[in-house]
Amino acid sequence: MKSWIPDSRNFAYLTWKQVDALPRDTTVLVLPTAAIEQHGPHLPLATDTLINSIMLGAALERLPQATPVYVLPAVCYGKSNEHIGFPGTLSLSATTFMSVLRDLGASVAAAGFKKLVLFNTHGGNTSLVDVMARDLRAEFGLRTFWMGASGGAKFEGIHPQEATYGFHANEAETAILLAATPELVDTSAYTVNYIARIEDETLLRPENGAANFAWLTRDIAPSGVMGDPTPATAENVERWIAAAAKRAAAVIAEMYHFENHIES
Ligand SMILES: [Zn+2]
Repeated sequence: MKSWIPDSRNFAYLTWKQVDALPRDTTVLVLPTAAIEQHGPHLPLATDTLINSIMLGAALERLPQATPVYVLPAVCYGKSNEHIGFPGTLSLSATTFMSVLRDLGASVAAAGFKKLVLFNTHGGNTSLVDVMARDLRAEFGLRTFWMGASGGAKFEGIHPQEATYGFHANEAETAILLAATPELVDTSAYTVNYIARIEDETLLRPENGAANFAWLTRDIAPSGVMGDPTPATAENVERWIAAAAKRAAAVIAEMYHFENHIES
């Protein structure tokens, strides 16, 4: 898999002696969590994993080299059972995914590290990452954080319909890959599919409704796309990647400075 993580930040490139020399209380270890799953007819299975590396790599480039932040090898497989029925989707069960995070958290804690960030770029993992961040805090005393790739930066200039219901293989994801790995985007294979319309007054929706119904992709998006990839351009997304990277770098720097004002 291609990687945008600087070698100097790659935890797995260290020897155990180099790891042993790291400051335990302040070093921030980042565990990327992503997915290998269908992303429509135009994007590769690894889209979420590539986006994770692209965005995290861009953030790390903006961090001072002296700030001790290291990236663990990614958990590329995620909970992707919403995409069952689409060949190529490789999914972990919720319990397996959570067990992997627990075991890695246990290893990090056993080495004496205190700060772990779950850096997640797959929506199907989000609720599990939230649960595990708290469980790792409770069980191992780790100071855990979780975040998405944007650090909260808004993708400007996107249509409101796309901003609300562009979820998957959408404009943003397509644009990021157009900027970083254009050879992996089949621009002749775009399909457009929205799982709901913003002007719709239906109360029960797949997302953002008065109540949501549990959905499988095949129920609501036959091509596997949820959104409109057609407006995506590398130029549009460069500014957003830079803004998101700046935000994410600031967020990670704050984790490094996060005071020991909580009980360990
Ligand atoms: Zn995705």
